[in-house]
Amino acid sequence: MLAPERIADGISRIPAKEEPLSADVWLIEGERFLWAYDIGSLPENAEYLNMQAKPVCCVLSHFHLDHTAAITKLNAEKIYLSGNTAKYVGFGEVVNEDIWFDDFPGLHIFLLPSSHAKGSLGLEAGGYAFIGDALCPGFKAGRAAYNAGVLADEIKVLRSLRAEFLVVSHEPRFALRRAEVIAELEEIYSRRGKNEAYIAAE
Ligand SMILES: [Zn+2]
Repeated sequence: MLAPERIADGISRIPAKEEPLSADVWLIEGERFLWAYDIGSLPENAEYLNMQAKPVCCVLSHFHLDHTAAITKLNAEKIYLSGNTAKYVGFGEVVNEDIWFDDFPGLHIFLLPSSHAKGSLGLEAGGYAFIGDALCPGFKAGRAAYNAGVLADEIKVLRSLRAEFLVVSHEPRFALRRAEVIAELEEIYSRRGKNEAYIAAE
């Protein structure tokens, strides 16, 4: 039987696993709904959520299967995803602009440009902003790299949030100070070459 770990008031997580690969499931207990950011790949995650008293709203961070595969087993009130993620999942409500909800303090789905995956979504709740794998680079010609334009847009979005912490998936140290992350991304952005679309990740 799954027992989510408490992170803060009303916020908990079902931790990520490596074998088989399954991303963290972040849970936010709203007044009316239980919000899940990602569902992971394991059916047991969905089975746990299906047993909860409150109806579940699920937000998928991006299309990768370790974040989404168990969605077919979830009985959700609503599934929010990007247009790109919807191409893989095949159902759900496509998010084309930021959405605010009054179900939990500061609850907010936001579009998050990311070199890791096209069509990433973040979820802000209380002092935390859940961002999945969005800080990871993508790949260009077999090398880890950031798309410079996308990185600039990502920094802009991260600056616009209110949360003190960004929460990333698959990491034991999952809560990162937003201001420190922005400073690191700006350092990476400053390394871009003139007329070069990509910045090599070190
Ligand atoms: Zn991913």
